[in-house]
Amino acid sequence: MSLARYACDPAASRGRRFAEPPAPTRSEFQRDRDRIVHSTAFRRLVYKTQVFLNHEGDLFRTRLTHSLEVAQLGRSIARSLQLNEDLVEAIALAHDLGHTPFGHAGQDALNACLKSHNPASAGFEHNLQSLRVVDALEERYPAYDGLNLSFETREGILKHCSRRNALHIEAREPGGVARRFVEQDKSTAPWLQPGLEAQLANLADEIAYNAHDIDDGVRSGLLTLEQLQEVALFSQYSSEALAQHAGLQGRRWLFETIRRMLSAQVYDVMDATRAALDQRHPENVSAVRQSAALVCFTPEMARKSADLKRFLFQNLYRHPQVLETTQAAQQVVRDLFEIYMADPAQMPQAHIDRFDGLETPQRAGARPERVVADYIAGMTDRFASREHERLKGQTVFLS
Ligand code: MG
Repeated sequence: MSLARYACDPAASRGRRFAEPPAPTRSEFQRDRDRIVHSTAFRRLVYKTQVFLNHEGDLFRTRLTHSLEVAQLGRSIARSLQLNEDLVEAIALAHDLGHTPFGHAGQDALNACLKSHNPASAGFEHNLQSLRVVDALEERYPAYDGLNLSFETREGILKHCSRRNALHIEAREPGGVARRFVEQDKSTAPWLQPGLEAQLANLADEIAYNAHDIDDGVRSGLLTLEQLQEVALFSQYSSEALAQHAGLQGRRWLFETIRRMLSAQVYDVMDATRAALDQRHPENVSAVRQSAALVCFTPEMARKSADLKRFLFQNLYRHPQVLETTQAAQQVVRDLFEIYMADPAQMPQAHIDRFDGLETPQRAGARPERVVADYIAGMTDRFASREHERLKGQTVFLS
């Protein structure tokens, strides 16, 4: 299918940091997608927490299945808007590569560790870490660190970035993926935007987790169908499902409601984005980057989605049972950080070899606390638990 004039065209890509000859049978974005799927960090996603810890049940989402759902939703919408499906897929599959074990709890703990170790530290942020994984931490090529992905995929991965971190990236890569966070004066104008495919992957992420967290929340017993009736988006489609299928109950009722909710949001994004494109009619990707965000919900759906997010925050992410595992997870991360900082030899040699002063032509060095943070961030939930057990002699999670 032909691409819209405002889609990212792989033939017009802004290229890779290290120039490579084109692949004979694949576009640049297909190649990025393939590199991501073959990476080590991608395989780790299967044992990383989305909301529920991996050992709590086999059917909960993990970072991997979440990323696949984001890619599926993103591709469907991209196809209908004539955007580049492969690019949306590549961004979706890579967007969570930088997540620590134990979900946001792990990230918050690692951020606090870095900042208390060194108040001048940039701390830990998963978007930035996802970029770091594909730019620096994967070791697969003879001549350079990282996966050497195209600009457009990397731009999509760097969804948010503080001005301070952006200045660091900009210093290494002038005019690169962090430029939009450097150039923009937040007080006078909205952020400059990435391409439409990146905007879409971002919104697909939100649609995916809002829906699957309801499913996982009910599966875990922490949310009930009755309680969910207070959420407009949910109650609207659960009543509709019941009106069409008398007597529908339990999981089939839940799935039918979620299915309808997902469809409604997908069609809403298609319609609202088409309307925004008609209004602004960007001629090309540069015009998209200069414009306000174009991939969007209608205002009504945006409100409903925000209500659902608020509900999940209050009733699921802040549920006492979730918070209890959160505290245990944070303790694991804090203990590991302290132990490796005090005794780096507890890490595999390959990580110690990345300390500042030990650079090689292929590999850049980093401060010890950053190397330790990279090592911990790369761990799966179960590896982190086992390491904690090995080093502290304590079993924090029963698995
Ligand atoms: Mg995500």
